[in-house]
Amino acid sequence: MRSKTYFHLDMDAFFVSVEELFDPSLKGKPVIVGGRANERGVVSAASYPARKFGVHSAMPLRTAYKLCPQALFVDGHPERYREYSHKVYAVLQSFSPLVEMASIDEAYLDMTGTERLYGAPLRAAHLLHQRIRTETLLNCSIGIATSRLVAKITSDQAKPNGVLWVIPGQEASFLAPLDVRKVPGIGKVTEKQLHSLGIRKVGDLANLDEAFLAQRFGKWGLAMAGKSRGLDAGGWFDTDIGENSAPKSISHEHTFGEDTADLSKLEATLARLSEMVGRRLREHNLHARTIQLKLRYSDFSTITRAHSLGRATQLDTEVFDEARQLFRRNWNAGAAVRLLGVHVSGFSANTGQMDLLAEEHHRRWEQALAAADKMREKFGESAVSLAASMRGKFRERTHENPVGLPGKRPK
Ligand SMILES: [Mg+2]
Repeated sequence: MRSKTYFHLDMDAFFVSVEELFDPSLKGKPVIVGGRANERGVVSAASYPARKFGVHSAMPLRTAYKLCPQALFVDGHPERYREYSHKVYAVLQSFSPLVEMASIDEAYLDMTGTERLYGAPLRAAHLLHQRIRTETLLNCSIGIATSRLVAKITSDQAKPNGVLWVIPGQEASFLAPLDVRKVPGIGKVTEKQLHSLGIRKVGDLANLDEAFLAQRFGKWGLAMAGKSRGLDAGGWFDTDIGENSAPKSISHEHTFGEDTADLSKLEATLARLSEMVGRRLREHNLHARTIQLKLRYSDFSTITRAHSLGRATQLDTEVFDEARQLFRRNWNAGAAVRLLGVHVSGFSANTGQMDLLAEEHHRRWEQALAAADKMREKFGESAVSLAASMRGKFRERTHENPVGLPGKRPK
């Protein structure tokens, strides 16, 4: 069987690099994106100079400040990252028809059989690397391998601003000396379990009996055995790039700067989240039937409540009505809330049956919202808002929400 050729392209320090385009004085400095040093919340991204101090994404901002007090703390700009993500995607799409964004700043390309067009894989990757640089002014790293898994690990090894190719047949020997943690899917917990079994390197994992791993970890053990040999095993790797690229769910969440029990603030936030969800629905030309509320209290206890509509919608107002009802029915009134989220699923391409009056009402809303979407494209996310009157400034947290991205298939 002819082997596959996959590229994994990952933008280098993406959020920071985009911020540097807008403010070149940040270049070369320790920069932390995500908020100010004394705020709660976490680091969205850190520049390479900041990483030298041990700062990394998902770390509390206050911890980052302790490690690197001289860092420049900047607010994230999700709309900028989306804009540049779209630019990256446009370049990738012009390069290969089989592209899948895996998050806001990384993508897989199936480059199998493109030799006649671009030459050998390494040459093609350099060409792509150059094109990304020219079109976006940003650096990226590219890994090339016969599986997406190895391509992803390879792009990480190529950082920053590099291209690396694992020659077919060399996958296992390339992986063997790496720490098990380098394998996507092996997180802190699995790493700990593996360490306790004396398994530290990917090579240790590859040398184990599959039956042993299956017995210890079940299905996940078998997936790990495959991964350790460089195969795309388990989870979303089971489908090919380009297969069913429509999202299965869309969600947005907001963590409050300070926990709040202020009803108007809470409902205004739900309105804003509903708008963001509605916008993504219209971007994907989808209608959702199931609306879900996520509510987290100060003590981190979290509830989710869902409701299915009689007919699917892509309207902010209808999503909001549902989310608010769910909230009113389930909020333990007076209890301070840490996080709210609105999640929609059960997609279809249209709304289904509607009577004439409802149809007219619906059509007007659609027109209004299409106009609002255009304004937002031109002037930024906060240009138009249902929640304009809301108390307290809403800052969209820059967590990467891959579902809102072009060419992205959900996990
Ligand atoms: Mg990246």
